[in-house]
Amino acid sequence: TTGSYPDSSEVTARYFSSEPSLQVDSTEENGFKGHGMLAPFTAGWQSTDLNPLVIERSEGSYVYDINGKKYIDALAGLWSTALGGNEPRLIKAATDQLNKLPFYHSFWNRTTKPSLDLANEILGMFTAREMGKVFFTNSGSEANDSQVKLVWYYNNALGRPNKKKFIARSKSYHGSTLISASLSGLPALHQKFDLPAPFVLHTDCPHYWRFHLPDEMEEEFATRLATNLENLILKEGPETIAAFIAEPVMGAGGVIPPPKTYFEKIQAVLKKYDILLIADEVITAFGRLGTMFGCDMYNIKPDLVSIAKALSSAYMPIGAILVSPEITDVIYSQSNKLGSFAHGFTYSGHPVSCAVAIESLKIYKERNITEHVQKIAPRFQEGIKAFSGNPIVGEIRGLGLILGTEFVDKKSPNDPFPAEWGVGSLFGAECEKRGMLIRVAGDNIMLSPPLIMTPDEVEEIITKYGDALKATEERIAELK
Ligand code: PLP
Repeated sequence: TTGSYPDSSEVTARYFSSEPSLQVDSTEENGFKGHGMLAPFTAGWQSTDLNPLVIERSEGSYVYDINGKKYIDALAGLWSTALGGNEPRLIKAATDQLNKLPFYHSFWNRTTKPSLDLANEILGMFTAREMGKVFFTNSGSEANDSQVKLVWYYNNALGRPNKKKFIARSKSYHGSTLISASLSGLPALHQKFDLPAPFVLHTDCPHYWRFHLPDEMEEEFATRLATNLENLILKEGPETIAAFIAEPVMGAGGVIPPPKTYFEKIQAVLKKYDILLIADEVITAFGRLGTMFGCDMYNIKPDLVSIAKALSSAYMPIGAILVSPEITDVIYSQSNKLGSFAHGFTYSGHPVSCAVAIESLKIYKERNITEHVQKIAPRFQEGIKAFSGNPIVGEIRGLGLILGTEFVDKKSPNDPFPAEWGVGSLFGAECEKRGMLIRVAGDNIMLSPPLIMTPDEVEEIITKYGDALKATEERIAELK
């Protein structure tokens, strides 16, 4: 089925669906080709429109397509269905809330009980430092957009109208709205969209394997990146820099855990210049790394935090931002002068989403989700990392239940395979053929399975990964 190869732009999610579940008739007479949906992050609309993989049903760590083919969902939807595909308690929480109060908003000091309860619950669970308030959104992108507006409002309240720039990192992913795509550091999110917006600056990607200098140790690499950050701040003027945003472990950019001492050194620089730190925990929150939050893993003391995805195990759309007491105080004391914080969404704190999120958090606590992840993660990590010696593998990296693989030639970060070979896509197709769904972005592939996986399911992923790798290696040998 592979007549041509996809480009390897960094967020290309498409790979060749070797066994499309749905063959859509091309209906030229009504002016459309393929189906009627404009699909997100899908390349080559004309060709892939005709053979989407249509998922119909889910059960535990598995999803099924419309023909009944079973796949282990090694990306947990989009890094999100932490509790797997059919948790009855979440379904009950949603239906109970739908029966009682399907909707009411949270504007103008009106609100609902589930949103108040969820805010308290989140504040109680986040212990890396004390947090003051929670603001609800519908997604991670909206959470990061809201962060920018909140920080601007805060600096206006403090009479610092020039302190407005944001620093993010190359290869980060913070969402795809105008502002969150600007914060993101992936070229495909910027090119053709006239982004990033001018208030966003990008600093180094903390990827040791790819970017370290000869003989540079991990700690030295971290020191160099912190120095580069400080130089960027000094060049722009510290009085113009409002905030720095970072994922504790970069996700969509290729699963990139920080080098040793990185966050310690970065935080010292930010503190020195009175720059806020935003932790984008949209992927890492609620156990993914084996700690409840990524901030716990790396001793990050953020001023603001973004969460989404596992907050509701993705059963309902919801995101949130956590706001430090210091920022909350400024906003409270100034909002009479400045006017209300005129920001929010019809569905901010949607009661059904909040009810499902409350139940998700209850389950994480009751089932000791972090302990469960700590128990199964070592075998998951070791099992996959055992393939590190494979000649087409450059690096396998990750911790907890998140893992990425970068394919390169000659084991060298400087020897990519020809983009037109689509090596990542070949691997993705081989996984799909064997009944496993993963994430592909160029020659990076990523796994982020449901947190509730059993040891047997971990073995299944390792076996399928190994088989797909062998098949991909053979395909490359033919191409060479
Ligand atoms: N931030 C991070 C770290 C993410 O991984 C994502 C999505 O993958 C987002 C933000 C955007 O979230 P959403 O797709 O819910 O808008």
